[in-house]
Amino acid sequence: MEAHPNSADVKKRIHSMVSKLREHSFRITPQRLAVLRVLAASEGHPSVERIYETVRQEFPTTSIATIYKTVNLLKQINELLEISFPDGSNRYDGYKPFPHPHLICIKCKKIVDLDLDSLDAMEKEVALETNFEILNHRLDFFGICNTCMAKKV
Ligand SMILES: [Zn+2]
Ligand SMILES: [Zn+2]
Repeated sequence: MEAHPNSADVKKRIHSMVSKLREHSFRITPQRLAVLRVLAASEGHPSVERIYETVRQEFPTTSIATIYKTVNLLKQINELLEISFPDGSNRYDGYKPFPHPHLICIKCKKIVDLDLDSLDAMEKEVALETNFEILNHRLDFFGICNTCMAKKV
């Protein structure tokens, strides 16, 4: 049920982001490309701070403003899904930039994608019962991952 992106799919996502950004006259610098790589791999659904730390290992002069600028532009052109939380700790999925269910570990804050067969049926049921036209959804499950369970903290 847990879907992990493979490297060919990640490359496809980077390529798609790059061409969309170019359509919007956004210059692709090596630093920005590094940001796209982190977002496309979407490992654990990174925060801006996590993206910044990762990119700085390769490009120490990168500023956090570069990360924000790239993230905001990708959001505007629907190439990035923002998962926001009441405490302001936004997380990002550039691999699947459309609504999909997530599973969140309340201890280590890891976020995992879920592929639920029942989701289409659920959406139809909501539309049928409410007469709404359903445009979007947000579905988060919260729990404790098995790494954290093993640590027993
Ligand atoms: Zn955990
Ligand atoms: Zn996701």
